[in-house]
Amino acid sequence: MSPSWNIELRILLGIAILGSLPGAFLGNWHLSLLIPLSGYLLWHLFNLIRLRRCLDLRKRLKPPYPPGLWGEIYQQTVTLQKRGQRRKRRLSRFASRFREAAAALPDAAVIIGEYREMEWANPAALRLLGITWPEMQGQSLLKIVSHPVLEEYLQQADYSRPLELTPPNNKGIVVSLRVTPFGRTQHYLILARDITQLYHVNQTRRDFVSNVSHELRTPLTVISGFLETLVHSDKKLTEHRRALQLMHQQTERMEIIITDLLTLSRLEMDNEERMQEAVAVPLMLESITSEARALSGEHRHVLHLESEPTLWMLGNESELRSAFSNLIFNAVRHTPQRSEITIGWKKSGDNLCLSVSDTGEGIAAIHIPRLTERFYRVDAGRSRKSGGTGLGLAIVKHVLNRHRGELRIESQAGKGSTFSCYFPLELAMRHEPAD
Ligand code: ADP
Repeated sequence: MSPSWNIELRILLGIAILGSLPGAFLGNWHLSLLIPLSGYLLWHLFNLIRLRRCLDLRKRLKPPYPPGLWGEIYQQTVTLQKRGQRRKRRLSRFASRFREAAAALPDAAVIIGEYREMEWANPAALRLLGITWPEMQGQSLLKIVSHPVLEEYLQQADYSRPLELTPPNNKGIVVSLRVTPFGRTQHYLILARDITQLYHVNQTRRDFVSNVSHELRTPLTVISGFLETLVHSDKKLTEHRRALQLMHQQTERMEIIITDLLTLSRLEMDNEERMQEAVAVPLMLESITSEARALSGEHRHVLHLESEPTLWMLGNESELRSAFSNLIFNAVRHTPQRSEITIGWKKSGDNLCLSVSDTGEGIAAIHIPRLTERFYRVDAGRSRKSGGTGLGLAIVKHVLNRHRGELRIESQAGKGSTFSCYFPLELAMRHEPAD
């Protein structure tokens, strides 16, 4: 028997003895027993009410505790209360850490119930899916992210593959949704990740492959066509001179395209900046200008070179030659005969600047942002005829990126265009010629 039971029995025994003694003397021990027993009962009632009030108000029962069973009940209640509070504190610490972690997530996380009603969402859900929590708690997910593809996906309930979609609240992005059922009741955790960049990279890669195939197919068709004719013909080879000439032209064109493609992929794959060389830009520009004059031939473009003769720069010579010659040859190939072309090389404010201005037809503003895309041409037919591959400005952009430079294009319809390469001034070098 526990000590509290012992005390309780002793109290009862005491009441019985003390209550029955006066009754035995007076001859009415019923009445004399009733009075202390009523007191005992009232004391129990008082303790019950006290316990109930404390539990109701969630207050801690304070000592001193009464002797006997009530003392034990009070003490055990206080122990349970303390344990409960400790658990509550641990849970709330865990919940606030979970909330902080969920708020720091760059991906949207949403919990929905059996009927697709939203139960919880993190802050990123607002940016990616337009869901604000707790304001939208209880609303249907399909009402907020109203998209037939999402509806079908949830209906099919096959979540083995993620779903890619453009959320209706933000048409400029693409998100990948993953749905994971959890818990015994039907609950789902939805994670949405912004994959816009990846999507565009894949798109560009797909376009690129199809463009490359398209570009190489035309020359190949021409060559194989003529070859077939030659194989099946019994005429003398001299009579096929024209065909051979065309085949030669097309193979040269293919070679140029492949060289440009290889240059581009080398620039893309080699991420390291290699700028240790001191590049004699004025001399390089002189040599490119005379090559441009040769390219112009009977079109007689008028080329002016205005460069600071002692201004050199740190960089990769072959890459810079490739970028500058692309800009200068473009000015020759994309402007009418006798147009004036001015090549400038100087310090300009906080930059080093190479500019190529022409007096050609100019480029409509709508094309300018896309000119550095691979195979983007204002007039594809004309560009091919003039020997262009559509890769020149993409190469320029990559070379400039590797030299922390920037390409700016200004153009006015009917007046001409200026392509300028700006480099940081730290790359400048003064080269004084030896006496
Ligand atoms: P391409 O090999 O066709 O020249 P680029 O990438 O070098 O390819 O240039 C892309 C397009 O930009 C050209 O097809 C042409 O339409 C336009 N372009 C480039 N430079 C000039 C210029 N100086 N004047 C007018 N159009 C130009």
